[in-house]
Amino acid sequence: MFIGKTALVTGSTSGIGLGIARTLAARGANVVLNGFGDGREIERLRHELSEMHDVQVRHDGADMSQPEQIERMMGTAIAEFGAVDLLVNNAGIQHVAPVDEFPVDKWYAILAINLSASFHTVRLAVPAMKRKGWGRIVNVASAHALVASKYKSAYVAAKHGVAGFTKAVALELAEAGITVNAVCPGYVLTPLVEQQIPDTARARGITEQEVIRDVLLAAQPTRQFVTVEQVAALTAFLCSDDAASITGAVLPIEGGWTAQ
Ligand code: NAD
Repeated sequence: MFIGKTALVTGSTSGIGLGIARTLAARGANVVLNGFGDGREIERLRHELSEMHDVQVRHDGADMSQPEQIERMMGTAIAEFGAVDLLVNNAGIQHVAPVDEFPVDKWYAILAINLSASFHTVRLAVPAMKRKGWGRIVNVASAHALVASKYKSAYVAAKHGVAGFTKAVALELAEAGITVNAVCPGYVLTPLVEQQIPDTARARGITEQEVIRDVLLAAQPTRQFVTVEQVAALTAFLCSDDAASITGAVLPIEGGWTAQ
């Protein structure tokens, strides 16, 4: 489906981003992985994806909080592959704390990685997409792009920002063959969620089991975690030609959470 195309997925050494990278590679795209982690494990992953799907796979360790590193990563990818045809802005971090105790450095880091990084990758990817008259941008937002939760002020602000950014850029690029959409997962059991369970327990004064039952899954009428594979399949569909008329959409995939 994506043979001859190149995907760049930020934050793809773990969780949802890795699932998206696997799915796009399985459908024939060359892939630029990005994210942190153990060098040997990342190399093993790079090799596995490349061999399994007969595509080129690179890893770039650019820090998405650093605009000059993003610029270098995008420049390298476009020089090597001609364009980033499928851009998936997925890298994200979370911090859970009451607003009056929220660490100032965490506020700026969350805005930089979860929101501003997408501005940089998009502004740098779009010229080559325009030259080809084709491109797909998928921003991994969150149910928190649509509704809020307590103690997540920076994350909710950043993800609402992603929704607005998605719509604005979609309008700008609508006649250029480039679609721009956001997917809004509910809770997916990845390291990002696993790490916030103890913090949420502390902030709310409840046990970790109660956080899973009464905070996380309580928000989702299905009472099930969303899976990485489901988010990856939706993202791959948005990247397909069948999705050419879907742009500027902010699509929930959250077990009914925001229908309430
Ligand atoms: P994760 O912690 O498993 O993975 C995050 C990835 O981002 C990793 O590859 C990590 O190395 C990378 N990363 C973190 N900081 C980075 C930086 N400064 N520069 C480059 N890479 C960086 O998290 P996840 O749950 O897979 O989350 C992925 C995205 O999905 C995030 O944007 C998150 O907000 C969003 N999301 C997650 C959930 C969920 O329940 N897990 C729900 C809704 C939205």
